[in-house]
Amino acid sequence: MTIQPEERKIKVAVIGTGPGGLATIINLRRIPFVDVSAYDQATELREVGAGISINENTWRHLKLLDAAEAIQQYTNKGDPTKIDGEQRNGLTGELLSQKLQRVNPNDPDAPPRSRIERYKLQNALLGQVPKNFIQLSKRLSKIEETPKGIRLTFQDDTTAGPFDLLVGADGIRSAVRQYAFPDHKLSYTGKVAYRTLIPQSAVAHIPGIPQSSAFWHTKDTHVYTDPLDNGLFEIATRAIEPEEQVKKVSWGQKVNKSQVIPHYEGYCETIRQVIAAPDEWLEFAMFGGPRLESVISNGNIALLGDASHPLSGAFGSGAAFAFEDAYILAQALRYTHEHKQPISKALTLYDEVRSPHYKGLYEILNSFGTNAKELEAIQPPLSENEYINERTRRNWNAENQWIYKYNVANVWKDYVQLLDVNKDLSKLDIEKIEKHEQKIAPAVTVSV
Ligand SMILES: Cc1cc2nc3c(=O)[nH]c(=O)nc-3n(C[C@H](O)[C@H](O)[C@H](O)COP(=O)(O)OP(=O)(O)OC[C@H]3O[C@@H](n4cnc5c(N)ncnc54)[C@H](O)[C@@H]3O)c2cc1C
Repeated sequence: MTIQPEERKIKVAVIGTGPGGLATIINLRRIPFVDVSAYDQATELREVGAGISINENTWRHLKLLDAAEAIQQYTNKGDPTKIDGEQRNGLTGELLSQKLQRVNPNDPDAPPRSRIERYKLQNALLGQVPKNFIQLSKRLSKIEETPKGIRLTFQDDTTAGPFDLLVGADGIRSAVRQYAFPDHKLSYTGKVAYRTLIPQSAVAHIPGIPQSSAFWHTKDTHVYTDPLDNGLFEIATRAIEPEEQVKKVSWGQKVNKSQVIPHYEGYCETIRQVIAAPDEWLEFAMFGGPRLESVISNGNIALLGDASHPLSGAFGSGAAFAFEDAYILAQALRYTHEHKQPISKALTLYDEVRSPHYKGLYEILNSFGTNAKELEAIQPPLSENEYINERTRRNWNAENQWIYKYNVANVWKDYVQLLDVNKDLSKLDIEKIEKHEQKIAPAVTVSV
C-alpha cells in the first residue's frame, strides 16, 4: 500500500488586520488547503476611529462571516416609515432630500443602514479569529520575491516566509501597494476630516437637530451629523487645510475646538451650535490616489480593501468593499484549487471580478467632478445656494444606490457560470454582470 503524501497547503500572509484583513483571515481559515499567517503593525488591538456604517452590503457579509449576531444588538429593526438620512444645505439648513429606511425584501430581519462605533465592528470580526492568531507589532518593512516564495521582513528585524501568496490589507498607506506598484502615488486631497463622538444630551437642546443621519453641504465642505443608537452623537466634517498646516501622518490626532470652529462660521445656526459643542476632536488628513487598473501583481500579490482602492472614505462603505474583496479572493482560491489551476489564475479571477467594481466607484467620483464643472459653467452664474442645492441633487441621486445593494455572492455565481462555459472570459463580461446587478437594484431616494 502506498501512503499518499499530505497535500502541501498554500501559504498565505495577510498584512493588516483592519476589517479587510480580518475578513480575509476568517474566509481563508475555512479553506482546508490554505495556511494563513496574519501580521499587523499595531502593538495591541484596541479601540480606534469613530463611527462606521453598516449598509445592506456590509450586513450581508457580516452574516457570511458569522459576525452579524455580535452586531445586531447595536442596530434596530428597519421601519420604512422612519427617516434614514437627509441631505441639507449647510448655509441655510434647507432640507434638500430625504431617504426612508429600507427593509430588504429578501432579508426582512436585516437592520436598516446603521452607524456603529468602529471598534464594535472590529470586535465582532475578532470574535471569529482565534486569540493570539494575529502577530502584533509587526510593521512590514521589506518584501523579497525568492524562487521559494515571498519573504517578509518586519521593522523589528524578524522575518517570515516563504509564502505562496501575499495579501496587502494594510490600508490606504499600504506598504504592499507601494512595493507592487511603486509608481502609484497618494496625494493630500487638500482636506482634513474632523471627527468626534459626544453624548446626545450635549446637542439635544439645539433647534433643528435632525433625528437621523444628515449631510449639511456647502460649496467646498460638509458636516455629517448622526445620533447613534447608544446615546452618542457623531459629528464628522470636511475642512480645507493647506498642506503646510497638516502633518502628513495626521491620522486621529487630537485637536482643540478652537482649531475646528473657524471652519464652520459660515454654516447655519444649527451647525454652528453643533460644532461648538465638543471640546476635543480628532483630525484626519485625507489622502487619495488614482485607481489601479489591476489589484494584483506578479501572480502572487493581491491588494484588498483600502490598500486596493484609495478612495479616501468616499461612499461610507470601505468595510463592505473590503469584505467583498475577501469573499471573492477566497472563492477564487477554492475554484482554481478545484480545477487544479495555479494561484496566479485565482488572482486573475479575483482581479476580473473586483477591478470593474472599483472602476464603477471611481466613475461615480469622477461624475461628482463633472457635475461641479457643469454647474460652474452655467451663465449667468448660479447663486451659492442654487449651486449647493443643484449639486447635492445631482450627486446624491438614487442611481448610486446599487453600491449598497450589490450582492457579490450573486456576481461570483454568475461569473463562475460564464467561466465554466467560456474559458476566456473577458473583463467586458464581468462588467455586463455588474450592469445587470445595478439594473435590478430599485431606487430608494425620496426628494422633497
Ligand atoms: C485607525 C483607523 C480608524 C478608522 N476609523 C474609521 C472610522 O471612524 N470610520 C470609517 O468609516 N472608517 C474608518 N477607518 C477606515 C475603514 O476602517 C476602512 O475604510 C475600511 O474598513 C477598510 O479597511 P481595511 O482593512 O482595508 O483597512 P484599514 O481599516 O485601514 O486597516 C489596515 C490595517 O493595516 C495595518 N497596517 C498598515 N500598514 C502596515 C504595515 N506596514 N505593516 C503591518 N500592518 C500595517 C494597520 O495597523 C491596520 O490595522 C479607519 C481606519 C483606521 C486604520
